[in-house]
Amino acid sequence: MSEPKYKRILLKLSGEALLGDADYGIDPKVLKRLAEEVEALVERGVEVALVIGGGNIFRGAGLAATGMDRVSADHMGMLATVMNALALQDALERQGVFTRVMSAIKINQVCEDYIRRRAIRHLEKKRVVILAAGTGNPFFTTDSAASLRAVEIGADIMLKATKVDGVYSADPVKDGGATRYRRLTYDEVLDRRLSVMDATAIVMCRDQNMPIVVFDITRPGGLAQVVDGADVGTLVER
Ligand code: UDP
Repeated sequence: MSEPKYKRILLKLSGEALLGDADYGIDPKVLKRLAEEVEALVERGVEVALVIGGGNIFRGAGLAATGMDRVSADHMGMLATVMNALALQDALERQGVFTRVMSAIKINQVCEDYIRRRAIRHLEKKRVVILAAGTGNPFFTTDSAASLRAVEIGADIMLKATKVDGVYSADPVKDGGATRYRRLTYDEVLDRRLSVMDATAIVMCRDQNMPIVVFDITRPGGLAQVVDGADVGTLVER
């Protein structure tokens, strides 16, 4: 088998990626498939850090819209990502993959605190590091956390998992003529307001020159193809 193109990756999974056909919570079948795909990468020697969202359980903005204090709502959102991280850890360990959950907010009896040097050490030991609680601060998103952590741990690439194969010129579901962008610059994403990630996350990647691939995680085998450098998804770079 060929050498993977990327040796250390930061994979951003939204909470929605765990939903499957449900509209709330976690689908164990989806979790198992994701765990198998990550396991296959680890077996090939790829160092994998995961940032998981919480949108399948709580989003701060949604709770705040009901009248809740935004900071409390964001704390709930961050705690939701910890739950997802524990579910992913369980699924990966049942596949025989060694993992560590590291949280940006202290929940020491449940998981480790995020400490950059320890995270890198875990990766070097081929443990999958699951980064929970976003940045640890309200008013941010897990996309921003993913870009920050990707830079901190020296990832070769940040992989943004979505339900479509990359970024399109229009909504491919509504417009049959929509075409996939194979490559975009950070500024094109920002100027055209393309829905890749929020602007904070894109700016972080741009300023630190962290390339991003947006790809379809729902297609089995898609993750491995991206790591092999296949022409799938959309590459965002300088
Ligand atoms: N969140 C936060 N700070 C962070 C990351 C996340 O406050 O650094 C909260 C925020 O309320 C957010 C929720 O956690 O809505 C879940 O994260 P996100 O919406 O990014 O999850 P995803 O959309 O990826 O599932």
